[in-house]
Amino acid sequence: MDAKYSKKGELSLLTPEEYRQTCAKAERYLNRAGIVITDAERQEMQVAEYGLGMLESIGLSLVVYVNTDRCCAKELILFPHQTCPEHKHPPVGGYVGKEETFRCRYGKVYLYVSGDATPNPAAVLPPGKEEFFTAWRQIELSPGDQYTLQPNTWHWFQGGPEGAVVSEFSTKSLDEHDIYTDPAIDAGLKRRA
Ligand code: ZN
Repeated sequence: MDAKYSKKGELSLLTPEEYRQTCAKAERYLNRAGIVITDAERQEMQVAEYGLGMLESIGLSLVVYVNTDRCCAKELILFPHQTCPEHKHPPVGGYVGKEETFRCRYGKVYLYVSGDATPNPAAVLPPGKEEFFTAWRQIELSPGDQYTLQPNTWHWFQGGPEGAVVSEFSTKSLDEHDIYTDPAIDAGLKRRA
C-alpha cells in the first residue's frame, strides 16, 4: 500500500477513506456500548495500525478524553479478533511508567499478561506475527469487568468474536517511550493503548 495518511503528523498506511470508514465503524461499537462522543472527539478519533498494514488483525481505534501529567482516559475500540500488540510501558526519567486499568464496556476482551500461561487461550493470533506474543496469562473481561496493570509489565489484548469497547484509565501516557515485542513497530510513530 503506497498511500500514506498522516493525521497529526503520524505515519499511517491508511488512506483517508480507510481512516474515515474505520472511525465510522468504531463509533458504531461505541454506540452499542451506549457511549456518546462529541463532534470534536469524533474529529480527533485515532486509528492505530502500527505501520504494519494489517489493521484487520493488528490495530485499534481510540478516543482520548484526557492525557495530562497525572492522568489519562481513553475509549479503545477493538473489532472482532483485532489485537493491540504486545508492549510495555517502561520508566521514563523519574516517572515509574504508565499504570493502566482496563474496563470492558461492550463485547469481550482477552487480555494477556506475563505469568503462568493459560491453557487453550481464546485469542486468534495475527498471521505471521505469532512469535511476537509471549505473555500468555489470559484475563477475560466482559462488560463491567476490569483489570489493573502495573507499569513495565508485558501485555497485549484482543477483542472477542463481537469485538470490544474498553475504557482505559491510566497515569500519564507517553506513547513514544513504549516498548514493543515486534521490532517492526516503531513506538515513536504510533499510538496505542
Ligand atoms: Zn499498554
